[in-house]
Amino acid sequence: MNQRFVAELPLGHKFYLIPELARDQDHQCLYCQLRIEVRNPVNFGKPHVATIDHLLPKSRHGGNERSNLAAACMRCNNLRGSIDRFLFKAAVIQLFRKRPDIVVLWHDEDFTRTEVWREVVQLFHRLRIRDNQRYRAIQSSS
Ligand SMILES: [Zn+2]
Repeated sequence: MNQRFVAELPLGHKFYLIPELARDQDHQCLYCQLRIEVRNPVNFGKPHVATIDHLLPKSRHGGNERSNLAAACMRCNNLRGSIDRFLFKAAVIQLFRKRPDIVVLWHDEDFTRTEVWREVVQLFHRLRIRDNQRYRAIQSSS
């Protein structure tokens, strides 16, 4: 077994790392490319707040090294889960291209209470299933 445990990033570490990652990306989410903001007492919990994203997800043995970390908005980070980062980004870009109405809603706090949100959740649910199947196929062939 090459299973290894990836520890949570310590809170103090996140405190300086998030602003650094956000600055390196010109305050753009890695996926949706919309503006992200470093957490402050006012924006706490909002969809546009910058979070640490593991390029290779922890669940797929990605580590906490700087080269495996990027800044993503909370919305994208939550939706992505363990979906392959390239696949996820392509899906977001494609979605935005087809549905400009969704771009406007993406960082809206009330987005999750709309009908459109349900479509988005279903879309990414299907993508997650496909990605899991693909991942298992790669694992079993190596
Ligand atoms: Zn985003």
